[in-house]
Amino acid sequence: MSAKSPIPLLDLKAQYATIRDEMRSAIDRVLESQRFILGPEVEALEREIAEYSRCAHGIGVSSGTDAILVALMAIDIRPGDEVITSPYSFFATAGTIARLGARPVFAEIERKTFNIDPVGIEACISSRTRAIMPVHLFGQMANMTPILEIARRHKLYVIEDAAQAIGAERQERRAGSVGDIGCLSFFPSKNLGGFGDGGMVTTNNADIAERVRLLRTHGSRDKYYNEILGGNFRLDAIQAAVLRVKLKYLDRWTEGRRRNAAFYREAFSNAASIELPYEVPNSRHIYNQFVIRSSRRDELMSHLKQQGVGCEVYYPVPLPHQVCFRDLGFKAGDFPISEAASKESLALPIYPELTPEMIQRVASAVCSGGHRPPLPCAPSTAEFGS
Ligand SMILES: *Cc1c(COP(=O)(O)O)cnc(C)c1O
Repeated sequence: MSAKSPIPLLDLKAQYATIRDEMRSAIDRVLESQRFILGPEVEALEREIAEYSRCAHGIGVSSGTDAILVALMAIDIRPGDEVITSPYSFFATAGTIARLGARPVFAEIERKTFNIDPVGIEACISSRTRAIMPVHLFGQMANMTPILEIARRHKLYVIEDAAQAIGAERQERRAGSVGDIGCLSFFPSKNLGGFGDGGMVTTNNADIAERVRLLRTHGSRDKYYNEILGGNFRLDAIQAAVLRVKLKYLDRWTEGRRRNAAFYREAFSNAASIELPYEVPNSRHIYNQFVIRSSRRDELMSHLKQQGVGCEVYYPVPLPHQVCFRDLGFKAGDFPISEAASKESLALPIYPELTPEMIQRVASAVCSGGHRPPLPCAPSTAEFGS
């Protein structure tokens, strides 16, 4: 790669180049079998992901969004119910709640981690509250211990939106295995991404697992006999075959992301005016995104784009302020921490195939502009580790 070529936010072609042959023979295997929906590939993936996530059960579904939807259906969330969740997440977190006629109730996030702050949850509980849905945002787990304690006291379910957090850990517990249900996404830009949409529900509860399996196929155990109202939430075999190949490399890739995060920390060690992502002690952040904060984020973003450095805002609008939720009646100022995050956060490239030189170029681009006066972080000449 020449010194001036652009550095995208994510380069899936670089990943594909390292596994092309294996991938093609895995897909070939499915083509030869002509079994495209569920079947042995999906069952094998379910076992492998359950083991990886340290859960008893994995149920492959059609997307991360559908994993959340079917999880909510499995605990029988209905119109009028309330589910407490984070105001700072991808839309699906709250959209699925609302699609079932239930009300998303938002508890403000912690400034440092962007994750739901357990301190605010109890004030959100009403007689209609049925569940709490923390999101493990950007690849770092929410503070589950107090959340589980609150849930136990109020007899609420806990659903983890672990779409960005496969393999993340906190106090030796893995994302998706801590609450009653975990929801994973295999959208291509997630750390374990398929060649299309896909997702997985994880749980240690055999009854919930059984219900999710039923819901996934129109509520039918025997074809054409429908016991409960479900839908088509099935995962297809080509995705499963692709994901099984990628799963073997996931820990290596995660280590690459973590190494890149460490390189950034070194490169930005003198940068006073940007804030680096906070890592909770005793945790494994899997860096689905490496999100910095700057009070002059928009300037910085256009500068980086000009320099050919990919970057993105996650997320520009907190969920309570989405137009489709205007009937919930929230107004500017209701979620000041989330609102500040939406104005200050910026994701930088973190994918594992980045080289130390590329990270240095990103860091130099961040330091060289968008800020007047310039940031006090002239590109370091220090050599990175190999
Ligand atoms: C990606 C994502 C989802 C939805 O997953 P899809 O597979 O895209 O449907 C849900 N929640 C969060 C936090 C996500 O990042």
